[in-house]
Amino acid sequence: WQTDRSYRFTLLHTNDHHGHFWTNEQGEYGLAAQKTLMDQQRYDAQAKGGGALILSAGDVNTGVPESDLLDAEPDIRGMNLVGYDAMALGNHEFDKPLSVLQKQQKWAKFPFLSANIYQKGSDQRLFKPWAVFNRMGLKIAVIGLTTTDTLRIANPQNVEQIEIRDPVKETEKAVAELRASEKPDVIIALTHMGHYDDGQHGSNAPGDVELARSLPPGTLNVIIGGHSHDAVCMAKENVSEQNYQPGQPCQPDRQNGVWIMQAKEWGKFVGRGDFIFRNGELTLEKYQLIPVNLKHKIKNLDGSETWLPYQALIPPNTAMMKLLTPYQLRAGKQLDVNVGSSDGVFAGERNQVRFKQTNLAQLILRAQMAATHADFAVISGGGIRTSLAQGSIRWRDLLQVQPFGNQVVSVTLRGSEVLDYLATVANIKPDAGGFAQFSHISLVADGKHVSDVKINGEPLQKEKTYRMATNSFNASGGDGYPRIDTHAGFSNSGLRDADVLRDYVRQHSPLKTADYVPQGIVHLT
Ligand code: ATP
Ligand code: ZN
Repeated sequence: WQTDRSYRFTLLHTNDHHGHFWTNEQGEYGLAAQKTLMDQQRYDAQAKGGGALILSAGDVNTGVPESDLLDAEPDIRGMNLVGYDAMALGNHEFDKPLSVLQKQQKWAKFPFLSANIYQKGSDQRLFKPWAVFNRMGLKIAVIGLTTTDTLRIANPQNVEQIEIRDPVKETEKAVAELRASEKPDVIIALTHMGHYDDGQHGSNAPGDVELARSLPPGTLNVIIGGHSHDAVCMAKENVSEQNYQPGQPCQPDRQNGVWIMQAKEWGKFVGRGDFIFRNGELTLEKYQLIPVNLKHKIKNLDGSETWLPYQALIPPNTAMMKLLTPYQLRAGKQLDVNVGSSDGVFAGERNQVRFKQTNLAQLILRAQMAATHADFAVISGGGIRTSLAQGSIRWRDLLQVQPFGNQVVSVTLRGSEVLDYLATVANIKPDAGGFAQFSHISLVADGKHVSDVKINGEPLQKEKTYRMATNSFNASGGDGYPRIDTHAGFSNSGLRDADVLRDYVRQHSPLKTADYVPQGIVHLT
């Protein structure tokens, strides 16, 4: 940089897109409006003499059936058209096998960054650690970082070969390498680690605030984050606005001289930070969270409801619509197929499946038992992602319940092994994703052990063998379940969980909720 020259640059950012390439039913968000908005913002920044960078803080994958079905191809190709410059790898980039991620990297015209993901047992990074950009004479480095929680919450099979190292040490290492080679003027961390007020990360791995505080001052200038799905807008020091409304001003966090920014989720907002760099100093001139066609509901005098936009509607970009529409139609055709019906609700909400036995878990587990001829079945409640409404059931609905594409597996265990297994899984505390859902088993769990175990109504016998059904996620140790995929009695059916559920729903419709009332699991703590 030159002395006494002011360099302007603008960061445009999103995070936790989760497959939302299309709008929702109310016409909110979606890449077509995002493209129009990004173009406007970028031209505006350029007109003011600055350069712009468009960044995604990760978790592009998983969450919308159309996208999941197509391995997020519309999302990635859409991001190419928007003009994304880089993306950080999020934990959900590991929901599918690494071969899918490699395919996505080939589609993308922008790099997937992570400086702290290594090949297990080696010093080999598995992804590009950073990218360096020249914008109007300013050299800007972007370093990617991924939450170490990925190893705990992702499908163990997909992360077997990887190691995720401490983000603080890896940032220092990457910055030292960058200063020795590229000598950037500005360094940005593009992270998927979460923003936790005042660094209170609870049972999560440390996030952006902890990162900023742990680094020597001047290591980083800005953190563009994701993972916690927050609008990072501070009400006062270390306290974020809990009820941020679209259109309100947004003050990003600042810790140890580092700005921390995050734009909620799903492309609902585009974050825009305008910076001025002068004589080695960086100032933030302006920050905004720009809503992408977000709306609120109002009640009309006649009792009907209308959705009103918070700000003037952003029209969809034509080229983007042309790119995305065939994907949406192709996926829609496959997803809107009717597969059955039910006389009531099958409960799969997060505040149910992570706290108590539910009828939807019964339905899923019985389907898995039928597919594997098992005596009983167990899975994590956290793998059930939504409810099934009363009435007709479409393929789309089942994929929303089980989006992860796990395989249904089974294992033959001796009664004594079953007891050991249950002692672990039946004692996983409520509220955790691992909270266990059971079928054809009753027991009493006291926090440590299990007693009074019956399988299909018969007391468990230690010497007898039993076949247990579960999914490949739990079988390989997901949510801390004991590994059974290395057991001699293990067998993988090769069938996808949602397919197994679909076949069962087809054969048993109309489903009667009265047939799926869970019973017999007692927690004493
Ligand atoms: P984020 O979008 O913020 O990263 P997340 O999905 O990682 O969210 P949670 O919503 O808390 O975090 O869900 C985590 C739980 O989801 C896990 O504990 C597990 O029960 C379930 N889960 C995650 N991945 C899988 C998978 N591949 N198969 C089955 N269940 C899974
Ligand atoms: Zn996410």
